[in-house]
Amino acid sequence: MKLLDGKATAQHLKEEVKAHVSEMKQRGERVPHLAAVLVGNDGASLTYVGSKVRSCEYVGFESTLIQLPEDTTEAALLEQVDALNADPAIDGYIVQLPLPKHIDAEKVLLAVAPHKDVDGFHPTNFGRMALELEAFIPATPYGIIELLERYEIPTSGKHCVVVGRSAIVGRPISILMSQKRTAGNATVTVAHSRTENLEALTRQADILIMALGIPDYLKSDMVKPGAVVIDVGITRVPDANHPKGYVIKGDVDFDAVAPKASYITPVPGGVGPMTIAMLLKNTLLARMWNAN
Ligand code: NDP
Repeated sequence: MKLLDGKATAQHLKEEVKAHVSEMKQRGERVPHLAAVLVGNDGASLTYVGSKVRSCEYVGFESTLIQLPEDTTEAALLEQVDALNADPAIDGYIVQLPLPKHIDAEKVLLAVAPHKDVDGFHPTNFGRMALELEAFIPATPYGIIELLERYEIPTSGKHCVVVGRSAIVGRPISILMSQKRTAGNATVTVAHSRTENLEALTRQADILIMALGIPDYLKSDMVKPGAVVIDVGITRVPDANHPKGYVIKGDVDFDAVAPKASYITPVPGGVGPMTIAMLLKNTLLARMWNAN
């Protein structure tokens, strides 16, 4: 079994972005500028956004964190989104999810200008991605593709089973894996909560992408020997023995599955760090694509 080390790969990627930014600076060009909008005080969201802002600083991007109170109205948030769309100094921005219940997240995401949508959540980007046109690919699926490519994992003609069909992970990664690309050309099966006899499918998979959000769901008897296992799941599980009061768990029972897999991502240190690195990559692309 070999570990797909997302932490190390993300670090390589960040160094590449950093080198690119340093060249931009030397040429006297404006560096990429990412903004993040955070509404409320959700603990996990604060952690994610904090880590995104720190990563921007690391690679030499400008970053702006716009923190709005929990009781921000939908209209006020939409005004903020309009302002970011119109601000020529901002190359790309994200609206951190989840949003408070009184705000229609779909309405907000639709208001983000597609050319600044570095999360790749806008239908324009999703449609362009599906049609294999230039687009911002959502950071998590993009990170999985990048990891498979950098480890030169053969995917062509392989059976890839994706468990989960969400708009930000399961569905886009299933589309990407089926496309004509280096990490692609796979025969893809998409499973979800209505799938019958899921184990029979996972046992046929050469590549298994688990994105359902149920800790330790994938057990060793559900995996074909030699399979490539990608664990997208991130769940905070309460743990009184841990200083933070919780531990992060993936969707894969790592200790049981790892000996059977050819390659496997750990949690933490797998897909998570890649997601942040790909957000930086998308912001760099935004700066380049929107340069003229
Ligand atoms: P969603 O809750 O939006 O989607 C979960 C999917 O899993 C749904 O399609 C659901 O099916 C399916 N599902 C749920 N239970 C089962 C089951 N018993 N058997 C088969 N399928 C099931 O989650 P996300 O896609 O947003 O996230 C998935 C996981 O990935 C979460 O743990 C999340 O925290 C993590 N994540 C990690 C990221 C990273 O950076 N590493 C980024 C984004 C997410 P149905 O559609 O029928 O409801």
